[in-house]
Amino acid sequence: MNITQRLTSIIPPERQDQSPESTAQLGTDRCRRCHEEVPLEWVSPIACGRRFLPGTGQWRSQMIDGRCPACDAVETERRDRVRREHFLRLRLIAMFGGEKPYREFRFERFDITAGNRDAFLRARGFHALRDNLYLWGPCGVGKTHLACALARLQAEKGLSVSFLKPPQLLRRVRRREAVEEQQAIDHFVREDVLVLDDLGIGQETPYGRQILQEIFDGREYRGGAGLVITGKYSLDALARKLNDDTISSRIAGLCRVVHVPGEDRRVSRHAM
Ligand SMILES: [Zn+2]
Repeated sequence: MNITQRLTSIIPPERQDQSPESTAQLGTDRCRRCHEEVPLEWVSPIACGRRFLPGTGQWRSQMIDGRCPACDAVETERRDRVRREHFLRLRLIAMFGGEKPYREFRFERFDITAGNRDAFLRARGFHALRDNLYLWGPCGVGKTHLACALARLQAEKGLSVSFLKPPQLLRRVRRREAVEEQQAIDHFVREDVLVLDDLGIGQETPYGRQILQEIFDGREYRGGAGLVITGKYSLDALARKLNDDTISSRIAGLCRVVHVPGEDRRVSRHAM
């Protein structure tokens, strides 16, 4: 089919006999990306009183910034993806409290040892609709690294993720009005993935324990998955530390408890 035939074939039938002269003026555009010839498109006239609206009843280029509609859709999708990645990056940096944890706390950069392999595999294979995880062990064995990497992977999958230390969570929840406080609790209950990093500091007050308890209960009621907690205490030690075993027994009921043994790598690195 030659160009004239192609153009004629796309002209609305009523125009083909009404204004044959217009076909002589028709042209095509060439897409600068795929180099395909793209015919002009016919824009039907829209009457407004006795006149036609401007821009109607004429042949119009289909090109957008020099691209054909198909190539433009690809370009739009690419730009949307870049924009999403950019905002996700900013959100994760804010959530982790800096550029460094964002850059370094990935699964690919985790030093796997015999002692932490189980924790690594559980974190990397974490399923937000099925799993809850309590990672405990001394400081510096990589629990926060794993928690950040986990949060990042889940966020990249498009899930809603909150990553925060319990005192931050309590500051976000604490409001003057009971209604606002409940809304803040509900937010953490609804998050697909909630990561509480370093449990065991700052929750000693009855208020702190009560908020955590409400969030754990709410999440369990909603389906009971997507919760990740790190801490340096075993559940027994946590109960002693909080002087109360409601939190630790709730964690025992909800979570797979994974011990991450080892010496503090931050200390041993300084000692070298
Ligand atoms: Zn194209």
